[in-house]
Amino acid sequence: MGVFLTQFTPIPDTCPFCNMRETLAHVYLECARLQPLFRLLTNILLRFWLHFSPHLFIYTLPIRGPTKSQDPLVNLLLALAKTAIYKTREGRLANEASCDCRAVFRASVHSRIRAEFLWAASTHSLDAFEERWALSEVLCSVIPSSSLHRTL
Ligand SMILES: [Zn+2]
Repeated sequence: MGVFLTQFTPIPDTCPFCNMRETLAHVYLECARLQPLFRLLTNILLRFWLHFSPHLFIYTLPIRGPTKSQDPLVNLLLALAKTAIYKTREGRLANEASCDCRAVFRASVHSRIRAEFLWAASTHSLDAFEERWALSEVLCSVIPSSSLHRTL
């Protein structure tokens, strides 16, 4: 994983957010700017009865056993969080305005859920959508009139 991230994440000397010496661990785990995103992930994972940790964040969940219905969703959320960190860091280096990784993460989850919901509604597969995206109503629920209610 570290090697993979290094290929896509050139590391300058200092963090563009806090000016501390920037390492790969700093970029994805340690920078203070990540704390609001990690608090949100902690809350989401608790609702799946999971404990958020740096190890889980980097290595994600093995998909097996009694939680295998929710594991792909959790892993997707962790991937979207890493993407949000990467994109906002790139944005900061390019002097773009939206560098809030928590907001970018939420927006990417919302747009993914909306796209999946619209696809499911048009293909009459809302049951499958619910099984995949509305687990325990952590992110959303489908209300009886076949509309979407976001809970994140
Ligand atoms: Zn930093």
